[in-house]
Amino acid sequence: MSEPRSFATSRTLWQRANQVMPAGVSSQFRRFHKPVPLYFTRGFGSRVVDADANEYVDYTLGWGPMILGHSHPALVKAVCEQMALCQTFGAQHALEPKVAERITSLCPGSERVVFQTTGTEAVQMALRLARAHTKRPLIIRFEGHYHGWLDSVLAKPNPHGPKGQPLPTSEGQAPGALADCLCLPWNDLAVVEQALHEHRGQVAAVITEALAANGGGVWPGKGYLAGLRSLCDKAGALLIFDEVITGFRVALGGAAQLFGVRPDLAVYGKALASGFALSAVGGSAHVLDLVAEGRTFQAGTLNGQPVALAAAACTLNELCRDNGAALVRIEHLGERLQLGLRSVFAEADVPLQTSGHGSVFWTFIAPAPLGSPAALSRHDGTLYARFAERLLNEGVLVMQTGRWYVSAAHSESDIDATVHAARRVLCSMRADGLTLGASAH
Ligand code: PLP
Repeated sequence: MSEPRSFATSRTLWQRANQVMPAGVSSQFRRFHKPVPLYFTRGFGSRVVDADANEYVDYTLGWGPMILGHSHPALVKAVCEQMALCQTFGAQHALEPKVAERITSLCPGSERVVFQTTGTEAVQMALRLARAHTKRPLIIRFEGHYHGWLDSVLAKPNPHGPKGQPLPTSEGQAPGALADCLCLPWNDLAVVEQALHEHRGQVAAVITEALAANGGGVWPGKGYLAGLRSLCDKAGALLIFDEVITGFRVALGGAAQLFGVRPDLAVYGKALASGFALSAVGGSAHVLDLVAEGRTFQAGTLNGQPVALAAAACTLNELCRDNGAALVRIEHLGERLQLGLRSVFAEADVPLQTSGHGSVFWTFIAPAPLGSPAALSRHDGTLYARFAERLLNEGVLVMQTGRWYVSAAHSESDIDATVHAARRVLCSMRADGLTLGASAH
């Protein structure tokens, strides 16, 4: 085991931030990082460096956006050139149609595109479009999926309430904000069919992550997405894929391409612009033309901001190079990493499950796969979190809840070094008497 690293500067900065920022962080998901939420100074390639000069191979990738790795030279050049020209016009520029054309050429079902700045906002836009198009109120979403922090979708199942009626996740959500939202178990066509029947003529859209990237990396069952497609068609509801994580990551055309199912609307963010604030809604012309007709309102001061668009143009260019070779390589690296992790955990007699895609996957210490995204909230990840925290000392940064992202900047030697680091951590945990093996779940 390596010498313990110091996180003293991060600790001091975090204490200072706590005096002026709730929990000392800018997004509440970040507050739980142990031993302390880290402060970073630099990122390059597959690496990040924290304020105590600790260097890590990074598998968090800014929660997903850094698909090319950190500070990719072409991206830095494109952004700096645009920065020198102008930061924002609040008006039109040629990068907008250029990126929109690229999205329409890559993403199944995206005939038109509108730009927003965050995934949350783009989800709001997609839901508004669906309600405007169908003139219906209800949205069906699924347990264990995440669609941003909006009052009208931030929901969890209500075990004691009427079927599908969700509970708010946060105090302060507007009373009634979830009145038009149903939250159903995922991967079960029968419950969707029944809900569409019980609420016939009322459901505007079914929104789903096509691969449960927030829900343990669970895959859709065989025929599930195609089944949703035909149930939506029959019910006159729109099918929305939330591709904020999967877009431009699991395939150039996202999960819609991977699974061969065409949504009416799709939401993109994260990898679209390599760390710049850009999201997009793509979809059928006859739905998005509601915006052109001035019937559905869409706005945002920073929508289409040229620096973010320059980042997107460059990102998509790099990803499309050589017929999409980067994503093929990322997938291969991620599979190599999952295989390596499973084998060192097996050597240590600890049951490790991995699920998801090569480019974004989850790891769990558990005797069997999760089975459903909803099971994530019942899973005890304490032991895994200790493992993830100890990886810091070995120069590996991962999300302590179990999700891993892989970028085009990772190398086979990064992957192999990470697997060796995992082996050392498991040995140290055993030496310290931390419970492993069959009882570790
Ligand atoms: N949808 C999905 C699938 C996400 O994973 C996220 C964020 O992680 C969002 C929507 C919200 O995106 P943002 O954080 O950019 O608002």
